[in-house]
Amino acid sequence: MKRFCKLLLATAAVLLLTAVVSVCAAALSGDVNADGAVNLQDVLMLRKYMADLPVSPDLAAADMNGDGAVNTKDLLLLRKAVAATEPTKPAEPSVLATGKIMKITTDFTETFSGNVTGDYSSPANAYLPAGTLDVLKKEVTDPKTGYTYYLLGCGRRVYTEDAEVYETSGKLTENKLYATASAAGGYTTVSLNSAWHVPFQLQLTPQTYPYVNQMGDFGPKYDVTSFTAAAVEMTFSYTTYASGMPDVSESPLFSAATWRKNNDNTYTLRLTLRKTGAFYGYHVEWKDNQLVFSFKHKTDISKNTASKPLSGMTIVVDAGHGGEWSGTYGVTPGLYEKTLTLQIAKKLQSKLQSLGATVVMSRTADVKVELHDVATMTRKAKPDLFISIHMDGVDFESANGPTCFYYNEYSAALARSIISNVDATYQKHKETTYRGAKWNPYYVTRVSDCPAVLLECGFMTNAADEKLLKTDSFQTELAAAIASGITAFQKSLP
Ligand SMILES: [Zn+2]
Repeated sequence: MKRFCKLLLATAAVLLLTAVVSVCAAALSGDVNADGAVNLQDVLMLRKYMADLPVSPDLAAADMNGDGAVNTKDLLLLRKAVAATEPTKPAEPSVLATGKIMKITTDFTETFSGNVTGDYSSPANAYLPAGTLDVLKKEVTDPKTGYTYYLLGCGRRVYTEDAEVYETSGKLTENKLYATASAAGGYTTVSLNSAWHVPFQLQLTPQTYPYVNQMGDFGPKYDVTSFTAAAVEMTFSYTTYASGMPDVSESPLFSAATWRKNNDNTYTLRLTLRKTGAFYGYHVEWKDNQLVFSFKHKTDISKNTASKPLSGMTIVVDAGHGGEWSGTYGVTPGLYEKTLTLQIAKKLQSKLQSLGATVVMSRTADVKVELHDVATMTRKAKPDLFISIHMDGVDFESANGPTCFYYNEYSAALARSIISNVDATYQKHKETTYRGAKWNPYYVTRVSDCPAVLLECGFMTNAADEKLLKTDSFQTELAAAIASGITAFQKSLP
């Protein structure tokens, strides 16, 4: 019995040694216990296995110095190789900031530039998950709106309502990150072990905004003519060491992952896209000491039948407004936006379901759903797309026609596809101003999890638009047009 056990152990150890040493030979690592680093523990573990082993030809692969035997000399060589790869770490991590430590309490909190005081959304605004920590630099009030903010050590601002004091007097030490990746269940997951919950910024790059010098209703226009990102870059504040090259070989999204050390105590993880513009949304959250990014894969509908082209897709349909939140109104007494949005949303739901999609509705009755709850519900649904249905209204009658709004660069093509179909439907009934697809930072379109758009179906304050919008048959045509736009978009994805 004892002998049998010993034989088993020896066989296991040979396999282990062969694996370990071949990895060393490839100048990668001798990470025996798979804790993500080559260190003394690995040597001790290896020594434990070697101590009781007879030297046999099977162990030739572990013979590092080529003297025909596996012995303590090989172990010493291994240890030397290990020492060379071991990063020099200070005994105590350096303190990078001290003061009042703030904790983000709202999920997906929008952050604004620290150089201005406004709250205009732009592609440079980072979004932080609940639990993120940073030091408070100062409180800021926007003189125009009276809104109050915390300016954080990372250089960005958050609304005071999105953060709370975590420690009245604390310190932020240099952070170390270790990254891993996996691809399964429709997502590529990149997890980062982090010493503490550091702030970070995610950017899709490169991307140009050709109209950014023109002013829209509230600020610069970040419309894109095409989505040109070749990579996703995540830059982590307070980070002085990063390791682990996430293995993305199984990912349909990414072809490479690389770390870049910056000179301001930040590290950037760059994930190179396999195809330009082939990015479909992401989710990020803190799970204990891990920051977990889930990057959405494309749902491939190319092999679906003609009758069920959207099978396999999940779509969130948001009927704008509801309950006490009536929305705009037009020429028909007592008719409010909330009623038309629900009627059209329900027709869209039936249409999408008949084409094979799973549809999640933000509401199916005359109730108010908070915008933040719509966003939370959308994230939970892990959808392929999000669309919010609205009616436009202004204080003059001439404005008419539908507009489709987007925020994220990867939503622009969806907005264009939907508006071209909806506009064509209008043209069958009346001449309509072509308003097209436009960038606008509407709250619900800022969800990052999937392409997301907000469709203004037309103007209730224009008599001809409103007459169509409240007609049952036109609503059905509108729903079909939106569905065609969705199908064409999904099929066109890179
Ligand atoms: Zn509305």
